Parts: sequence; structure tokens; C-alpha cells
Amino acid sequence: MIATVTLAQNLIRKASVTPNDKGCQDLVVDELRSHGFTPEFMPFGEVRNLWLRRGTEGPLFVFSGHTDVVPTGPETDWVYPPFSGDVIDDMLHGRGAADMKGSVAAMVTACQRFVETHPDHPGSVALLLTSDEEGPAVDGTVRVVETLSARNEVIDWCLVGEPTSSERLGDVIKNGRRGSLGGTLKVRGIQGHVAYPHLADNPIHRLGRIVSELSSTRWDEGNEYFPATTFQVSNIRSGTGATNVVPGEAEAQFNLRFCPDSTAPDLKAKIESVCRQHADHFEIDWSPLGLPYQTLPGTLVSAVTESISDTTGYSPRLSTDGGTSDGRFIAPTGAQVVELGPLNRTIHQVDEVVSAEDLDTLSQVYEKVLKRLLGCT
Ligand SMILES: [Zn+2]
Repeated sequence: MIATVTLAQNLIRKASVTPNDKGCQDLVVDELRSHGFTPEFMPFGEVRNLWLRRGTEGPLFVFSGHTDVVPTGPETDWVYPPFSGDVIDDMLHGRGAADMKGSVAAMVTACQRFVETHPDHPGSVALLLTSDEEGPAVDGTVRVVETLSARNEVIDWCLVGEPTSSERLGDVIKNGRRGSLGGTLKVRGIQGHVAYPHLADNPIHRLGRIVSELSSTRWDEGNEYFPATTFQVSNIRSGTGATNVVPGEAEAQFNLRFCPDSTAPDLKAKIESVCRQHADHFEIDWSPLGLPYQTLPGTLVSAVTESISDTTGYSPRLSTDGGTSDGRFIAPTGAQVVELGPLNRTIHQVDEVVSAEDLDTLSQVYEKVLKRLLGCT
């Protein structure tokens, strides 16, 4: 059996910048095929995806991860070459060490140990890997989930390996992510001379009233796991350049980070209704929606929490902050989804690094989660 850090090194040495997989998924197949996992590649566009399942029965537990990494920037800025995978003083260096080739390696070795000690486990274990998490995420996990749904492969539990830890391994896990809804609002008025306002219709004044109302709106109260929904304007643009002209239109860009207590259609309806109160002529160009997800404490949260405290002696904090993750594509199928991975302090930075010992600990935690959920303690 391969050591977690060795597999992580081998993965880092493949320069798999999004959407290239560069053979990372083949390395994973090499390790798991001999342990009874059946590989199925699901390429979409230029994205490589891998579905690797052991067993045909439910319940189905899935590790979700990505083999792509963000670009390095100028390699001369790196003290340790980004694709060297060097281990120095127990620290594994390289692009993807923390986000998230270390986690992928920990998933693989956890699966190997689990099936060696529990060859006849009930249910199924699977890995869902994509090479398009850091990019547009259009042909990655979302397409695999669509394919699985179409043939009724139902995911019960999913553990995403995103780097969630803050100060020490396993101190933070994510049981959800906020949604993101944004757009550009354009208000039309009538251009005219500032000295003859009765002949003009000032869209800046109308937009100002709309922004004022939207920015003081209470969208929801938030809940135990999510703060209340927030609305922010990031840009406002108007004017002809002249000081004596009322412009004909005004534009604002806005974004809401929303709690799952609010739905995107309701938020859109509220925004449109406020616009209608203050403007006769307006249009909103909505940006692609990022759906929120939330997994309430239950079987999966307990299994992950207990496995962490078993291994490390401390309990994780639940969090829903940060950007988005592929968890948003898996949760809508009804699966419970939790994210747990190594320290995120150096992700996307030069000299990304992870503790080799932490990867071993992470692999142990992953293995314990499998034992707890598939009933073989
Ligand atoms: Zn990641």
C-alpha cells in the first residue's frame, strides 16, 4: 500500500492546471482498481472526470475531490518549485499540496485500508474526481451528478476534501455554503437640461431610491448556521460627463450572499418589486446563480465530528463561510454533504504547503468516517 504523502507527491508532480488532469486520475485508478473499485471516466468538453465505485448496493458514501490546480503565477516567485512535490522537514511543498491533492491522496489510502479490513462492507464507497473545480465548473462535478441521477445512482453521504482547517487539522468543517445572486440593474430616464428638470426624468435619482431601499431591506433573519442575507452594490455608473445634463440612464451592479432561508426566485421577485416602485423603465441582467447548500447535523456531521475528536482529541467547529465548492452540485440531490480537508492558510498562494503528518491524520479520519457510516466498527 502506498503512503499518503508519496501519492500526494506523485499527484503534485503532474502539472494539472485547470482543466488539465495530466494523468492524476489514472494514478488514483492504479491504486484503487486492485481494491475492487470500478473506474468510469466521464469526460465532458475538455474536462476529465472520474467515477470510481466499489459495490452496487446502498447506502452510497462518496469522497468528492478535484485533481486540477490553480496556476502558479511566476515560478521564480516560488522558493520550492511548484511541481517538485518536495518534502522538507515533514512539510510537503507544491501547487495543490493543500488544495487538494493532499486530500485526494488521503481519500485513496483511507479507502485502501478500509476495504482491506472490511472487504465485505455493506453499501458502496465511491470517489468522484473532476479536473474542473477551480475553473468554470461547468463540465465537472455538476455533469457527473446529472449522469448519476439519470441512472438512479443515489448518493447518501458525501465528504468533500476542500481545505477547511484553520489553525490545526480538523478544527473547522463546513456543513454548507452561502448562495450567491448578482446582476446589473439598468434604469432608464429621459435626458435633459438640469435647469429644466420638468422636461427630463433623472434615472440617478430613481436608482438612488432603489439602492437605498434594497440596502436597508431585511431579507431574512439568518439561522443557526448562516448569517442573514446581505445585499451589496459594487458599482454605480451614469452621467454624460457634463455638469448641466441629466443623463438618460444609470446602472448599478449588485450581489447578494444568501442564507438558504431565502430562495433565489423570492429574492429576485423582491428586487424587481422594489425597482418597479421607483422606476417605470428598468432591466436586470442576472449573473449565473450560485446555489447555497446546508446539511443539518445528522448522520454525516456526527460521523465526521466523532472521527475528528477520536483521532485528534478536539471537536471541529461547523462553518458555512468562504466561497463556493462542488458541494453545491451534490447537495441538491438530497445527499448529506460535509467538507473536511487540511489547513487552508497557503491555498492559491506561492509556496503552497501542507504538513505530511496532517495528511496521515486526515487519512485516518476519513477511514474512521467510512467505518462509522458503513456499520463496521
Ligand atoms: Zn479546492
